[in-house]
Formats: sequence, structure tokens, C-alpha cells
Amino acid sequence: MRVADAIVIGGGPAGSTCAWKLRDAGLDVLVLDRAAFPRSKLCAGWVTPEAMADLELDPNDYPLRIMMFDELHLHWKALTARPKSRQYSIRRFEFDDFLLQRAGATVLQHKVREIRRDRGDYIVDGAFRCKYLVGAGGTACPVYRAFFRERNARSRALQTATYEQEFAYDWKDPACHLWFFDDGLPGYAWYVPKENGYINVGLGAMAERLKQQGGNVRNYWGKFVDKLQRRGLVRYDQYHPTGYSYFLRGSVNVVSDRNAYIVGDSVGLATRDMCEGIGPAVKSGLLAARAIATDADYSLAGINKYSGGGFASKLLERKFAGAR
Ligand SMILES: Cc1cc2nc3c(=O)[nH]c(=O)nc-3n(C[C@H](O)[C@H](O)[C@H](O)COP(=O)(O)OP(=O)(O)OC[C@H]3O[C@@H](n4cnc5c(N)ncnc54)[C@H](O)[C@@H]3O)c2cc1C
Repeated sequence: MRVADAIVIGGGPAGSTCAWKLRDAGLDVLVLDRAAFPRSKLCAGWVTPEAMADLELDPNDYPLRIMMFDELHLHWKALTARPKSRQYSIRRFEFDDFLLQRAGATVLQHKVREIRRDRGDYIVDGAFRCKYLVGAGGTACPVYRAFFRERNARSRALQTATYEQEFAYDWKDPACHLWFFDDGLPGYAWYVPKENGYINVGLGAMAERLKQQGGNVRNYWGKFVDKLQRRGLVRYDQYHPTGYSYFLRGSVNVVSDRNAYIVGDSVGLATRDMCEGIGPAVKSGLLAARAIATDADYSLAGINKYSGGGFASKLLERKFAGAR
């Protein structure tokens, strides 16, 4: 049996951040991830300055692909706004691997299936034992399923459905574009260029609203890529988009129990206005690590429910929920 002080299940931004800080605090940390890193992660790869700061990453020192935007191009019907806003794009394929390596923990490729408690410890798949267990396995996290789901049922009204593709493409427009509510989509579409010839295009919307409208997110794909073509943004004929679902921040209360903790998408922490999940995942990883290392309480109180704030954020939240 392999024994560690802490086992982190999932090596995405929530898990790697938690592992990094637990290692800093001197714990022996094992990260189990079902995927071999670097692994693909469906994500537009938009990262905020706040998330970079929480990760103690200076964008100028980040050694892989990173692109900076000084404004966003926001489209709604015929209107376009270009608010000044410093933001970044990275490729998750590279970023998550970089963060996981930096964490300095032992990483094993292993798909976790069964977890049980044993005399104050946790036993994972009969092969790994630890005192502290961190569930960072995203939407399908086995720690959430085993110990938190019944007390923290996630709200279906806050479930997203996404459809996207990232591919090598010699883009010409270096702006980040977002189109809100096109053709009644209860969400938004994006065009996010990446440094050195990559691009991510996709759609994200509220799953339950799509169902109520009698469709799903895939129904919007054809019109979206036609628009990219018409606008001269992307001319491409080999699309094979894929989907993934995650949860926006709900009223989750119980996030730790008897030395087990849940962080990131496992909780459902993405923001209610922009569906941003990386920043909240990182913050929750930091807070869980601090709680373990200092025997403090772990709470989500310091993690914002919104990426922005004020009227615009509330309006987006209401529109995603179906307000006219
Ligand atoms: C299409 C799309 C676009 C998005 N765009 C953005 C964006 O631009 N900006 C942003 O901030 N957020 C975005 N998000 C949200 C963001 O990707 C997530 O919120 C973020 O990845 C959460 O990080 P995490 O570490 O909690 O989970 P993840 O990054 O999902 O990591 C979970 C890890 O757990 C592993 N795992 C799962 N089950 C098991 C198991 N049984 N055993 C072992 N390992 C397991 C997985 O392999 C994975 O590596 C987007 C999401 C989607 C789907």
C-alpha cells in the first residue's frame, strides 16, 4: 500500500494548486489523475490577472504560450462594446501540465473508483492510504460522489453545456470575441486566439434552459461557425467539436468533512456571469491547502461568485437563467 500524508485526486488547476501549497508546507503529497499529462482539457483557456497572481505567475515569465488582451470585443445583436480589460489566453494542454510539474508532488496516472474511510484515514482503491484527501476531479470527482453529493446536490439550473474545439490555425484577428445570446442561446460563444497559431472557438450555455427550449448546444454550432466564416475570422472545414459539462456556483455548504476536502469543479465554483472556472478552482485549492496545513477552517467565503460585478454581471446571470 502506498502511503502519503495527502492524496489529491485530479491534477487540474484546483488539484495542482492544492498539491503545490501542501508540498510547500512540507507534506508528502500524491496526485492521482486518470489522464496522463499533458492531457487535453476542454476550455477556452481564458485566464484572469487575478488567477495569475494567485498562482504567483508573472505572465512575462510563463515559459509557454500566453497571449495578452487589453480589451474584449463583446457582441450582443448588432451592438459591439470594447471594454478595456487586461486578460490572458493560454492552452490548457500546456498550462495544466506546467502547474502540475511545478507542484512538485508525486503524480501517478490512476483512475480512482472506490474510496473508503479506515480508522481516520482514507483508502483509495485498496492501493493508496492517506490522512488528508482532496477531491479535485472536476464534475465527475469520485470524492464528491463518495462523501459530498448527498449533502451538496448540485443545482441542475446551474449546469452548463459546452461545445468547442481548439486547433492549430493561422488567425489574423488577435482580439478575443464573445457573442452573447445569438439565436436565443442561453449563454455565449467565443473566439479566443492563442499565441503562435492556435485558436479556440466554442459555445457555452445553461443546459436546463437549452432542454426547455427543446434543443441542445450542438444545435447552435452550424450557425456559429458560419458566422466565423462570414466575418472572415475562421475559415476551416475540419471541425470535430466535443462537449463537456460543469456547474456554476450554487449554494454549496459542506466542502470538508473529516479531513476530506473538495475543490474546483468538483464543488461547482464557476462564476455566475462569465462561467469562469480556473480562477475559483485555484482559489479553492489554495484555501483547502491552507486549511490542511494550518488546521484552519475551509470555507468558500473568499471566492467571488462573479467574474465582474455590478449591474452587467447580474444582467448576464438573469439572461442565462432565461429572463427576457
Ligand atoms: C468548453 C469549456 C470552456 C471553458 N472555458 C473557460 C475559460 O476560458 N476560463 C475559465 O476560467 N474557465 C473555463 N472553463 C471552466 C474550467 O475549465 C474549469 O472550471 C476548470 O478546469 C476547473 O478546474 P479543476 O481543477 O476543478 O478541474 P479539471 O480541470 O477538470 O481537472 C480535473 C482532473 O481530474 C481528473 N479526474 C477526473 N475523474 C478522475 C478519477 N476518477 N480519477 C482520477 N482523476 C480523475 C481529470 O482527468 C482532470 O485532469 C471552461 C470549461 C469548459 C468545459
